[in-house]
Amino acid sequence: MQLWTVNLNTPDWQNAPEAPGVCAALSAGGLVAVPTETVYGLAADATNGKACAKIFEAKGRPQFNPLISHVPSLEEARVHGRFDALALRLAEAFWPGPLTLVVPKNEASPISDMATAGLTTVALRVPAGPVMRFLAERTGRPLAAPSANLSGKISPTLAKDVIDDLGAALSFVVDAGPCTVGIESTIVGIVDGTPRLLRPGGISREDIEDVLGTKLLAASPDMRPDAPAAPGMFASHYAPNASLTLNAQEVGPEDALLSFGPEPIPGAEHAQAEFNLSPDGDLAEAAASLFQGLRTLDASGAGIIRAQFIPSFGLGEAINDRLKRAAAPRP
Ligand code: AMP
Ligand code: MG
Repeated sequence: MQLWTVNLNTPDWQNAPEAPGVCAALSAGGLVAVPTETVYGLAADATNGKACAKIFEAKGRPQFNPLISHVPSLEEARVHGRFDALALRLAEAFWPGPLTLVVPKNEASPISDMATAGLTTVALRVPAGPVMRFLAERTGRPLAAPSANLSGKISPTLAKDVIDDLGAALSFVVDAGPCTVGIESTIVGIVDGTPRLLRPGGISREDIEDVLGTKLLAASPDMRPDAPAAPGMFASHYAPNASLTLNAQEVGPEDALLSFGPEPIPGAEHAQAEFNLSPDGDLAEAAASLFQGLRTLDASGAGIIRAQFIPSFGLGEAINDRLKRAAAPRP
């Protein structure tokens, strides 16, 4: 595994001597860990079925769970998917950014069935993180990229998280520092003219509904290829090694505390470890630090992580979605 450390504040980072090697690795079907504004992605050429198969293998991800393809622009996205007026409106409002759109796949799109899990729809995103956009543009290929962690485990927001989890499977890791949003993209499906929220994420439901002028509907079961479980059940995901409980009212000396806001709960000062997601109670800050918080508390060795209540509006909806999945019974 080779490392490319990118300083995005230098104007010519794209001309670094590592760049051609990273592009060549992707074009040859290799796996490259690439930061975006959401989390670090495990990227491969989405048009190369074998390369996408390596993603599933490295993560231990079930192959029925389709991948998001990252493209440099809306224009490129329209090569692969059919955008109706509402989908276009969302793309124009939020791209580049942490919004994924699931739309009908164009027959002419070269994105592999391995990436879409054989569906007739395709998940597309133009990320704000410039490294993924640059690599997609330079290689001329859409890049399939789920989070660069073992399936079901905590998502990575630092290059070192990726190296710890998946280093051996990778050709390159691109390190551009911490991810600014820190939580995965919001996924909206617009397949039959009706916008549906498939996963809460880095753009809030409220911001999307403002642009649409209508409410987002819930996902219909046939649009949840990743969730064959019974409705209302949260499949275990984003799980630390410790067990996680929600809505903590107090905390014991052997537990770790994932806190939020300025008010300490009883026992907080004696907890084995504490990580405050946002002492000011700011939901964007909490989203950005959520996965580091879980990783840090897990490393404390506590058997139980107790998470304080977090309100469910704005980015709180995505944070609570991740926490509920991390707290779900393990397989
Ligand atoms: P991630 O696990 O962050 O890579 O996000 C991938 C998720 O996108 C999957 O688990 C699905 O929920 C969703 N997804 C990707 N492609 C599709 C699709 N064609 N139809 C519906 N959902 C999709
Ligand atoms: Mg993931």
